[in-house]
This record gives sequence, structure tokens and C-alpha cells, in this order.
Amino acid sequence: MSPLSHGTSQQQPDEPALAVNPFSGQANPVSGMTEDPPKHRLAERPLAPDTAYQVVRDELMLDGNARLNLATFVTTWMEPQAGRLMGESRDKNIIDKDEYPRTAELERRCVAMLADLWNAPDPSQVVGCSTTGSSEACMLAGLAMKRRWTQRNADRYPGSARPNLVLGINAQVCWEKFCNYWEVEARQLPMEGDRFHLDPHEAVELCDENTIGVVGILGSTFDGSYEPIAQLCAALDAYQERTGIDIPVHVDGASGAMIAPFLDPDLQWDFRLPRVASINTSGHKYGLVYPGVGWALWRDKAALPEDLIFRVNYLGGDMPTFALNFSRPGSQVIAQYYTFLRLGREGFRAVQQATRDVAMSLARKVEDMGDFTLLTRGDQLPVFAFTTADHVTSYDVFDISRRMRETGWLVPAYTFPPNRQDLAVMRVVCRNGFTRDLADLFAQDLARLLPELRDQPHPMVRDHQAGTGFHHSENRAER
Ligand SMILES: *Cc1c(COP(=O)(O)O)cnc(C)c1O
Repeated sequence: MSPLSHGTSQQQPDEPALAVNPFSGQANPVSGMTEDPPKHRLAERPLAPDTAYQVVRDELMLDGNARLNLATFVTTWMEPQAGRLMGESRDKNIIDKDEYPRTAELERRCVAMLADLWNAPDPSQVVGCSTTGSSEACMLAGLAMKRRWTQRNADRYPGSARPNLVLGINAQVCWEKFCNYWEVEARQLPMEGDRFHLDPHEAVELCDENTIGVVGILGSTFDGSYEPIAQLCAALDAYQERTGIDIPVHVDGASGAMIAPFLDPDLQWDFRLPRVASINTSGHKYGLVYPGVGWALWRDKAALPEDLIFRVNYLGGDMPTFALNFSRPGSQVIAQYYTFLRLGREGFRAVQQATRDVAMSLARKVEDMGDFTLLTRGDQLPVFAFTTADHVTSYDVFDISRRMRETGWLVPAYTFPPNRQDLAVMRVVCRNGFTRDLADLFAQDLARLLPELRDQPHPMVRDHQAGTGFHHSENRAER
């Protein structure tokens, strides 16, 4: 049942009682286990904890194996020590700053470390916070841009002016949500030919006096490519010279803000660029923490309007907070601090380089199979996308996605957005824990499928949505 559907729509009448298996029933005087517990309403009586545990655990066995899930960017492996620390701190609510001042302090240290990592000219000026993930962080960054724009345009808004946000069509769905929920017009630059992300000059052509900001993505969820943030800033500098209109850039670094600082230190994408007002990242992607933690940072107080800040009690004084949620687990933030402490710059560099090496070598192997054209090679985000070569007509990427499931691999196939809806691709997201050995197994399983697929009369999966099992948004993969 989808979480939004009504409780009764798919409800089955409870099935008749079956014989009791003594292995599951004997130790359970409370329930007696004479019948299965109802699934869509509360049972009248409690279950013994071991019984309840077993029932839930058994049901979850049918989920896919998270480590074989090459669709997600989100961390699926942490050290046991991190898991232990998270378990030990699962009772801490992050909003209780006064009650858990050390947790609050660890959050502040993480923000300071990120400000340093992202080359803030004056880290002491940076303001930032943890969030549930990049989606919440992007909402907050978007709100800050909108509020700055409304303050500058108080004479026209509300009234004649309607705010807009400029971004590529490849932006993650959270930006569509932001624009929808906060009534900002999304001006999305379509893909064109071999350009699968934002073009700085075409983006600037979409800007006007009602543009609250431009989002640059590091990197794109569709193919793992970095958008050209420095060129975007330069184009907006020129635009300001021409028109006097000063438009801030937000960098959506959900993945790349934890890759580029370690692997591409010379790439200018961060607070070194004066036009970059704010940056977000997902601590639970290449920040290497289990879901859900994200981060949002603003260059300075001017970038984050004071009237968006709320204050909570902290050590007898008050602490500024900016968040959509109130209560939220503290353990993810604690795990983020653990990861920073544990790895340091050198450790992070080594982990991310290993992941990039796996991505690049697997991309090469896929290319060498002869049936595929690579769109990206894993040398920016450790992610690559590929499509079937022109001479391949008997099968398509949706067939591969479906058939790879037979060996346990979850790898999404999806069509690109306008103006490249003709292009269907597969994307492989490499993460820490997707080892060289696993990548070799993936390549072997893929190679083994090809003779059969080449013998098909035509592509088999008619209903693409049903074929891939990925239903996140209009048949796109998680993005
Ligand atoms: C994953 C992602 C998001 C959303 O992040 P969550 O942490 O899943 O909420 C936003 N933008 C980009 C570029 C992403 O890759």
C-alpha cells in the first residue's frame, strides 16, 4: 500500500487460521499464534517481542539487497563502530540543544569542517545546519534565495512580480518540489544534443530581474557529470555588468561536494567563487553516513536572511536554527562527525579515489563489451551512464535492467528529459562498499546476458515503467 493511499483500499479479509508451527508458536503464550496477526488494522492483543521481530524481519527478506543496489547514491555500508555509535545515540533528538549540548556541538563542528573543506574565505562567517538530507537543505537554500529576492523587491511583491529559479532540466526532483511548494516559477533549461546539463550562457538568457538564483549541480544525477559552476558564475558576472542585476548561485553538491574537495581540489566550484552564496550536500551520499543527514551552508549572514531564523533554548541562552522539521534523530549527525574524525582528509581522499577507480574501470569494461556507448566514464562523480550502441536493435536498456535483477543487481534504466526523451540509458552508481570484486561480478553477469539478449527478436519490455521497477518520478531513476 502506498503511504498516501487510503487505509482500506487494498485491504484483504484476514485469512483463515492455519495449523500452528510449533517452532514459531510454542514460545508465545501471549498471542498463542493461532492466527496470523492482521496486517491492516491493529490486533486486539500484543505479540511477544521475539514473534513480532521475526514476523517483520521475515517480511523484509524480500527487499532487494542494499549493497547490490546500484540505483542509489545513498550509503549502504558503514563500519560496525559507526553502527554501534548510532544505536547508542538513537534516543537523542537533535532539536533538544539544551538537553544534548554535546550533540549540538558536534553539529557545529561538522558545519565548521565543511566550511573549511569548501574553501570559505572566512569560515567564522559561514552559517549552516544539518538537515534530513539534501532535499530539505535545498528547500532551505531556495527559501533563503527567495526571501532575499522578496526583500529587494518589496515594492513589487506580492503584486506584479513573480519569482523564478533558473536551473537545468536535469535538476533533482527536490527542486521541482521547492518551486511547486513555494510558488516559484521553475525555468528549466532543456537538454540539447550531447549536452546533458546546464549551459552557462543559455542559463543566463533565462534570467531576469525576477530570478531569485541559479542552481548549479555538482554533479548531475542523470549521468554523474559536473555542471560548469565557475563558467556559470563568470556568465552571471558579465550579466550583472550589463544589467546591474546581481543573481546568486546555489550549488547543489548533494554528491559532488563530498567528492570534488578530495579528488578535484583545483576545480573551482565552491566558496572560492564569490557568487556562490550557498552549498548543500547529502551526508548520507558520499559523506558516507547511513540515511538521513544533509547539510546546508551559506557563505555569510547576508546570504541567509535573519528573519528565517528561529531560536531554541541552548545552555541558558538561545541557539539559532533553520529547519523544516522540529524533531529529528541526532544519531546521523553524530555518525557524520565520527566519519570526519575517523577518515580525515587523507582517509576521505583514499575512499573516494578507490570508488572512482572502480567506476572508471567498470565503465571501460562495459565499453569494451562492444554493445554500448558511454555517456560518462565515472571520472567526475563515480557514476557512469551508458546506452545501447546504434547497431544494437534486438534489446534495450530496459531489458538489461530487468534481466540483471535475476542475478540480484538493481540497476535502473530510464529515458532522459526534454529534449532528449529519445535517449534511454542505464546508470551505475558506484559507492564505498561496491568493491572491485563486486564490480567484476557485475561485469561478468552483464557479459553473460549479452548472447541471449542479442538473440531476441526485438526489445522485450513494452511497459518501461513496469520493467525497471523504479518509479520515483515519471519513470526516472532515483535522482
Ligand atoms: C540526491 C540528490 C538530491 C536529494 O537529496 P536527498 O539527500 O536524497 O534528499 C538533491 N540533489 C541532487 C543533485 C541529488 O543527487
